[in-house]
Amino acid sequence: MAVQTVAGNTTSSAPAVDLGPAAALSCRECGERFELGPLFACASCFGPLEVAYDLPTGSPEELRKRIEAGPDNIWRYAPLLPVPADVAEKPNLNPGFTKLVKADNLARELGVTGGLYVKDDSGNPTHSFKDRVVAIAVEAARAFGFTTLSCSSTGNLAGAVGAAAARAGLRSCVFIPHDLEQGKVVMAAVYGGELVGIEGNYDDVNRFCSELIGDPLGEGWGFVNVNLRPYYGEGSKTLAYEICEQLGWRLPDQIVIPIASGSQLTKIDKGFQELIKLGLVEDRAYKIFGAQAEGCSPVSAAFKAGHDVVRPQKPNTIAKSLAIGNPADGPYVLDIARRTGGAVEDVTDEQVVDAIKLLARTEGVFGETAGGVTLGVTKKLIEAGVIDPALTTVVLNTGDGLKTLDAVSATSQATATIKPSLDAFRAAGLVAN
Ligand SMILES: *Cc1c(COP(=O)(O)O)cnc(C)c1O
Repeated sequence: MAVQTVAGNTTSSAPAVDLGPAAALSCRECGERFELGPLFACASCFGPLEVAYDLPTGSPEELRKRIEAGPDNIWRYAPLLPVPADVAEKPNLNPGFTKLVKADNLARELGVTGGLYVKDDSGNPTHSFKDRVVAIAVEAARAFGFTTLSCSSTGNLAGAVGAAAARAGLRSCVFIPHDLEQGKVVMAAVYGGELVGIEGNYDDVNRFCSELIGDPLGEGWGFVNVNLRPYYGEGSKTLAYEICEQLGWRLPDQIVIPIASGSQLTKIDKGFQELIKLGLVEDRAYKIFGAQAEGCSPVSAAFKAGHDVVRPQKPNTIAKSLAIGNPADGPYVLDIARRTGGAVEDVTDEQVVDAIKLLARTEGVFGETAGGVTLGVTKKLIEAGVIDPALTTVVLNTGDGLKTLDAVSATSQATATIKPSLDAFRAAGLVAN
């Protein structure tokens, strides 16, 4: 598909496609603007592109009321997203507005007094935060006339794309590293699209997809996290909006976010900034913390070394959903952590498992390995005095533990196996009397 890129200010002329308040794409590095299209890199400086908006004018009260009257999913924020106004009426999976769990038991255990919350995105349609980003990318795919939806995935994205494509009536063909968890593979295959395992790690899969986009084989394909990446990324802003709305239109003081490519973290920051600009929340300081597994910690390593560039790593961790050795948004994550006074930290696989079980034991929330990474880092940073226990803190659980059972199956088994008799139960010694 041929796409005209037009340099210069494009906001004065109406965009060629209807993606609601989205006005143009703009380069994060040099600021050059381009017409809305399936583009991801600046034609002048190769910097990443992001969506620029004509954001709603009018009073914050009006906008707040309009949002609160909207549906109980991400489409309540349609005025702030690159989607057409009638998006809620189209066939899609309506993700979002997941629970913000006030985690008092966990807070007590960790010594947090300022209020601890878990934003539990396992409640999304395919049980991870990826439904948010895919829902936005589907609208862009429809607008640009793509007939096949695709992605390079660490697991959760493949399932989210498969499901969203099924619902939208699009074809799908998704690519994953061949050695993912069984739960992720089945979740990606069950929706009936093509699922291709690549012999290599995520970074190999991603490189393969970039080649496919440039080849006639990939013509008419919308890769949600490659040529639709600017739109895809905007879906993560809805986490920022929901958290603030659920806190009573207030910014959290501290938030801990897992890092794979770093897109989610950078867009949550963008979401907070927009809410401040629109007057929907009071403008006050917040700190953003990034979480990685030690076996794939390129951003954490750069943060600790004081570097601006992120040196790629070869991933080796049970947190496969976060196993991106060469994270595209790594440098922006470093900027945000430093600008807000946050940090980037990593934990061992053993600490990941402990944190999964800690969250389950204290709050009844069973997170996937990425959730274990995030809570593990939170605990480590509280103990190090970096996260202030007296301030309001939000921790993300971005996926469902049922997809990564292997992480805890060795240590989560039946307490006892007995004959069906009271004598046998008494003999097992499980009760005091
Ligand atoms: C993809 C993913 C993330 C973060 O992804 P980014 O590439 O950093 O946006 C976090 N948690 C889970 C479970 C994921 O699948």
